[in-house]
Amino acid sequence: AGRPLSGRVALVTGASSGIGEATAVALARAGAAVAVGARRADRLSALAERLRGEGARVLALDLDVTDEASCRAAVARTRADLGGLDVLVNNAGVMLLGTIVGADVEDWRRMMATNVLGPMYTTHAAIDGMLEQGSGDVVNVSSVAGRTARKGAGVYNASKWAVNAFSESLRQEVTTRGVRVSLVEPGAVATELTDHITQPEAKAATQQMVGGMTPLQAEDVARAIVYVVSQPRHVAVNEVLVRPTDQE
Ligand code: NDP
Repeated sequence: AGRPLSGRVALVTGASSGIGEATAVALARAGAAVAVGARRADRLSALAERLRGEGARVLALDLDVTDEASCRAAVARTRADLGGLDVLVNNAGVMLLGTIVGADVEDWRRMMATNVLGPMYTTHAAIDGMLEQGSGDVVNVSSVAGRTARKGAGVYNASKWAVNAFSESLRQEVTTRGVRVSLVEPGAVATELTDHITQPEAKAATQQMVGGMTPLQAEDVARAIVYVVSQPRHVAVNEVLVRPTDQE
């Protein structure tokens, strides 16, 4: 009691590392009960154990956001086990940077399935309940890449532009019914995100770019997400762009 999110239930996708993990920690410390979803169950159970040690209510969920049934089951289990769902943080994502010319098209399928269809599935599963209770928050983690397209990031850009369009359209649909829809758009954050890039030149260039600055830490982005969902109900923070000060 007394904490800004006590009594609220959150579901964070991609909570096994990076921004999602830091967000789950920050939401729990703000008083929320938190469901954490991802594919790496070992990481999630370690996180859940840590948060329970701090007195939080936590539910670890096997979740593959590219699978619609998995998304529906995660939302249903959150409601059943934690007693509701007030805050959905769509954070799971992959950034398989590289040129369009010569790309492995499998990278494109993974990005579009994870970054675009994933948040669509979870949102579709969660939104009816939020509308019925007349309140809720959907926070979509997009990127600077959702606002500015660059050479070498084409399909990642396309995936995040899609997230922005989906968010704004949904916002107009549901905002007068008490459901807030927000975009959080980080610049470079020190996480595992670049580890999965398959084009060697793109991976080297990105890691060099991040290495040349003081990047954001995952906790910096988590703080922005807690800020968004802790506002009084009449305040909708629609969009937050957070870059490292060093990032041009
Ligand atoms: P990480 O690689 O550390 O985290 C990505 C998370 O997404 C992991 O928990 C991973 O879990 C999860 N994930 C990936 N695929 C799936 C899937 N199919 N189903 C469920 N979970 C999945 O990177 P970040 O923390 O940096 O990335 C989080 C978000 O932030 C992404 O949407 C990214 O685009 C965005 N972002 C990151 C920036 C950065 O510079 N780092 C900048 C701007 C935006 P698991 O593998 O266990 O399933």
